[in-house]
Amino acid sequence: MKDIVMTAETTLAKLGLTAAELSGGTLKVTSPIDGSLLAEVHETPAAEMGAILARAKAAFKAWRTVPAPRRGELIRLLGEELRAAKDDLGALVSWEAGKITSEGLGEVQEMIDICDFAVGLSRQLYGLTIASERPGHRMMETWHPAGPVGVISAFNFPVAVWSWNAALALVCGDPVIWKPSEKTPLTALACQKIFEKALARFGDAPDGLLQVLVGGADLGKALVESEDVPIISATGSTRMGRAVAPIVAQRFGKCILELGGNNAMIVGPSADLEMAVRAIVFSAVGTAGQRCTSLRRLIVHNSIKDDLVARLKRAYAGLPIGNPLTEGTLVGPLVDEAAGKAMAAALEAARAQGGTVFGGARVTQDVPEGGVYVEPAIVEMPGQTETVKTETFAPILYVLGYDDFSDALEIQNDVPQGLSSCVFTLNMREAEQFLSAAGSDCGIANVNIGPSGAEIGGAFGGEKETGGGRESGSDAWKAYMRRQTNTVNYSAELPLAQGVKFDI
Ligand code: NAD
Repeated sequence: MKDIVMTAETTLAKLGLTAAELSGGTLKVTSPIDGSLLAEVHETPAAEMGAILARAKAAFKAWRTVPAPRRGELIRLLGEELRAAKDDLGALVSWEAGKITSEGLGEVQEMIDICDFAVGLSRQLYGLTIASERPGHRMMETWHPAGPVGVISAFNFPVAVWSWNAALALVCGDPVIWKPSEKTPLTALACQKIFEKALARFGDAPDGLLQVLVGGADLGKALVESEDVPIISATGSTRMGRAVAPIVAQRFGKCILELGGNNAMIVGPSADLEMAVRAIVFSAVGTAGQRCTSLRRLIVHNSIKDDLVARLKRAYAGLPIGNPLTEGTLVGPLVDEAAGKAMAAALEAARAQGGTVFGGARVTQDVPEGGVYVEPAIVEMPGQTETVKTETFAPILYVLGYDDFSDALEIQNDVPQGLSSCVFTLNMREAEQFLSAAGSDCGIANVNIGPSGAEIGGAFGGEKETGGGRESGSDAWKAYMRRQTNTVNYSAELPLAQGVKFDI
């Protein structure tokens, strides 16, 4: 795999990263593809946090007064630079996170899409006008920039999650301090270079609009604890969210939390099974089951369960597993050895709880040495046990049967997480019930498509242990601004609201 390392070096150079930035540091970056060392990057010293925060605060003071459509111009340029760098950045996502080529490129496309969205948004950022009960008065709300935004991101979407946050935060007038996953600092440093190109073309932006912190959880913690960072957008495990949220709440900061999921598909007796199989396989084994929206639970009507499981087993048996850079590969590696062990442990626990496991073995033939490759697993379970209710970040699909649609809904909602969900049915009553107030309790609920592969136009996020945050489209931008209610009196009287009299 030496050629991969060499190609990675060329790509890193094309993305503007220098040999000095990539060597001599304490953070070793290895590729999940074969474990080869990609770089040794320099960690941000904790002692630098003060200066970083001061720079972000100063940048905020200048940036908040730049007209929003002008701020949008920076994001338009960022979108252009991302288009130019798409192939290289996409390849780097594959090397550093282990995604297949098409998904690495897809992640960069998602960045481009959010930039387009944010550019349009920069000419909106609209508030309401509100009818006042007092004569000669006008009420309205204005949305103002809120301050530096701390972005903490996970390894599995190493660049898209940053862009969802950064594109919106920057048009909203907020500088960004980004703490990427310690597993994927190279893609973050590459994004910083791409952003700098956009900045150079933009011209007069303040210093410190984007700062990247390279390192582990301690750096994230310093960001979370800082009073100078009013908004923390944290993407990662529920464990991380549980640590972060109370600290931010204690200082009355705001959190946008995007945490773990345990996403389900209900398949009704009327479902188009051929479509369902395609959707299931993409969402359960894509990114080797390491998407927050990966399909983890299949809740199937008992009358079609055996047929559907048999079709799935046939599809799984032919899955091309291996080097994610090889054309045709659909299942790349797990991120590291710990992920492989977590998968094996979950399968063992499922067996102990009465599950029947298909697949799930380690793959060592025809895959690059040094990477952790696994067969995606299908596990038929007698019920929704603790293991099924736990998110294991690996390609395990638990299958549960049901007879009544109301039972299926109950199973779907009876987990601690609430990110994404879907139903396959041609029965309009089932579909509408699924989307109703008494239906899925998730932030995302789909009909006749899988749970993953979100578009940027909608708000993205989920309920319960998923954290309640919303990012990306719709009105998610509001979380990056502060709302101000304004009342203007253009009369010569001073009436009080609610009929209160206070004559002096
Ligand atoms: P992780 O929680 O191990 O790490 C995520 C980030 O949090 C890293 O940058 C890490 O350094 C930082 N971190 C960890 N502990 C911290 C602390 N105490 N204070 C501050 N920062 C801290 O997650 P991971 O393994 O990189 O990613 C996988 C997880 O992320 C899965 O649970 C997945 O579902 C979730 N995820 C959720 C979404 C979503 O949008 N809901 C998207 C992607 C990933």
